[in-house]
Amino acid sequence: MKILVAVKRVIDYNVQVRVKEDNTGVVTENVKMSTNPPDDNAIEEAVKIKESGKATEVVAVSVGEEKAQETVRKALAVGADRGILIKADGILEPLAVSKLLQKIVEKEKPDLVFMGKQAIDDDCNQTGQMLSALLNWPQATFASKIEIKDKKLEVTREIDEGLETIEINIPAIVTCDLRLNEPRYASLPNIMKAKKKPIEQINASDLGVDTSPRIEQIKVEEPPKRKAGIKVKSVAELVQKLKNEAKVI
Ligand code: AMP
Repeated sequence: MKILVAVKRVIDYNVQVRVKEDNTGVVTENVKMSTNPPDDNAIEEAVKIKESGKATEVVAVSVGEEKAQETVRKALAVGADRGILIKADGILEPLAVSKLLQKIVEKEKPDLVFMGKQAIDDDCNQTGQMLSALLNWPQATFASKIEIKDKKLEVTREIDEGLETIEINIPAIVTCDLRLNEPRYASLPNIMKAKKKPIEQINASDLGVDTSPRIEQIKVEEPPKRKAGIKVKSVAELVQKLKNEAKVI
C-alpha cells in the first residue's frame, strides 16, 4: 500500500500574524514558516501505518514556491520515503491545489491520500473534499482514528455532535484532525538522513492545470481590538454588571 500525504507550508501557528499596511494580505517576509499543523498528524499517521507493516511507501507532496521544499524535507525527516514539490507562485486556491494533486494521484497511483482537515492560513477546509470529488474517491474528513481493514478503512470522525465512525472503501481521501495522534519530532540523525532522500520537482504549468485565482481578495484587515476587561469585587457586582451593563443575563 502506498500513502500520499499533502503538506502545506504556512505561517507558524505561534507567530502573531500582521496585516500588510496596504491591506493586500499578511506579512510573510522574515516570518517563521512551518508545516500546517494537521498535516503533521497526516504524516505521522502514514508513517505509523508503514511502521506497522501495512504500507510500503509514504510520499509527501507540497504545492507552492521553492521554499515549500523545506516542508517536504521535514516530512522526510519524520519518516516519509520521498517527496514531490509542485512549484507554483502566487495565491493558490483549494481548487487549483486539488487539481494539481489529482495529477499527482493519477501518476503515483496511491491507495490512500492523507491531508490536513484545514489549512490554518486560509481556513478553507476544501482541498480534501475537492480532490475526492475530482477523483470520484470516497472521503473521510476530520479523522481522529483510522483503522485499515483489508480493502476498507474504518474512520472515526470528529463532528459537532461527538464522534462518528464510518467505513469507506480504499482508495480513499482522509483529512486528519489534530486529535489523530501525537506527531513525533525529527531527530538530528533523521534530519541528516532526510537530506539524501529524493524530492522530485515539477512545475505546475507542466501539469496543464490553470492555477489562476477565481476569487478576488478585496481587503485584509486586522480583527477589531478587544476592549480591556475590568475586575469586580464580588459575585453580586458581576451579576449586576452582566444584567444591567452587558445585558446578557
Ligand atoms: P484547505 O482546504 O486550504 O483548508 O487545506 C486542507 C488541506 O489540504 C491541508 O491541510 C493540506 O493537507 C492540503 N493542502 C492545501 N493546500 C496545499 C498546498 N499548497 N500544498 C500541499 N497541500 C495542501
